[in-house]
This record gives sequence, structure tokens and C-alpha cells, in this order.
Amino acid sequence: MSKKNRRRAPQRPTVVFDFGGVLSAGHDPVPDIHALLGGDAGAVGEALWTERGDYDAGRTSPAEYWGAVARAAGVEELSAAEIDELQDADNRYFLRLEPDSRALLHDLARNDVRMALLSNASAAFGEAVRKADWFEAFTLAVISAEERTVKPEREIYEVLLDVLAHETGGVRLPSAVIFFDDRAENVEAARSLGIDAHLWPRNGDPHPEGAEPGVSIARRVLAERGVPTD
Ligand SMILES: [Mg+2]
Repeated sequence: MSKKNRRRAPQRPTVVFDFGGVLSAGHDPVPDIHALLGGDAGAVGEALWTERGDYDAGRTSPAEYWGAVARAAGVEELSAAEIDELQDADNRYFLRLEPDSRALLHDLARNDVRMALLSNASAAFGEAVRKADWFEAFTLAVISAEERTVKPEREIYEVLLDVLAHETGGVRLPSAVIFFDDRAENVEAARSLGIDAHLWPRNGDPHPEGAEPGVSIARRVLAERGVPTD
């Protein structure tokens, strides 16, 4: 066998997106949740974010999570239907995609680019996101609560690399994974494993005038890597 034949073809890159703040249009479900629960909006917001880490890590159930948020609003008891209603409102808020992000997903899908999701999110959100119309363009989603590990822990990136290696014939190649996230610590952690990771300035946040939006950073990086988006 000639040397040439033994050489492996370069692996087609996989584009991996964070969800909140990257694909979602916004990053503040508190007004929608407060509209359902009433009480003090500040207290609701504080409980929603303070308790979110454990919820996204799969350490608390929907009843425990939403129960804690509701208590902050002065609501002592939630029915199963009310828990569902709060979860649905949160899912609906986050599932509103940024139009420019959606356009990028369409362009990548049209060019048959492999895509995956890597999100710190509850199992309930994982279930909802897999039902979204655009998700059929994705190969897979790694959802923190399902894996019991959250970004920026090393373990969740290992899960991502392992499942992608499985999808791509057992070859594990972090440098062929192009990853976008709106949290610097998540980008740093990915880079420490050799992943080609980039910061996407959070959608919905105010940015300095002239700052490059996340989607155009992504389009530029993808063009530089030879990933077609036309
Ligand atoms: Mg995010």
C-alpha cells in the first residue's frame, strides 16, 4: 500500500452550538415566569437563576426547581399542571430563535454540514428542543441534565467528543469540532481539550456600537475553516 493510500482523509468538521444566548434570541425568561407567578420580580429572578445550576445539572426535579422559584414569589404549592405551565413558558421563551442564527442553521443544513448542540439545560428542555422544527438538521444534542455534568466541566466535553467520534467512525478529533458559546469559561474549557472554540457575544445583550455580532463571527470563522454557508 502506498503512503498516500494510508493517509486518512481530513475529517469533515462538526459545528457545535451552545443554545442559550447563541441560538436563542434572548437570555431572560424571568418576565415570562413572573407573569405566571406574580410576587416580587427580583426575588423570582434570583431564585430562577440561583436554582438553575442544580436543575441544569440534573440534580433537582422540575417539581423541586419550579417549587423553589414559586416560593420566591410567595406561592407555596404548585400543582403538576402548574409545574408544566412554568416549564412550557420557559421552553417557549428560549425556543424563540434569533432570526440570524436560524438563517445560519438553514445555510449549514443546506450544505449538509454536521451540527450538534451542547447545552447546559434541564432534561425537560432537552425533550422540548428535540421536538423543534429546526432540530432535524442536527445530528445530536448533548444536554447537561441528561449527562449529569455541566459546562465548563471537562466531562461534558468528553461526552461530546465521544459521541461525535462514534458518529464519525470512531475517530476522535477535537480540532475538527468548531464550537460557539456565549460564556468565556465554556470556550476556555473547550479549547483546553483542543476543540476549535469561539466566543459568541450573547444574543439579546447590549453590545458596544460596531461590535461584531455572534452570527457574523461564526460565519467568518466557518468561512476561514472552509465550511460552506452560502
Ligand atoms: Mg449560553
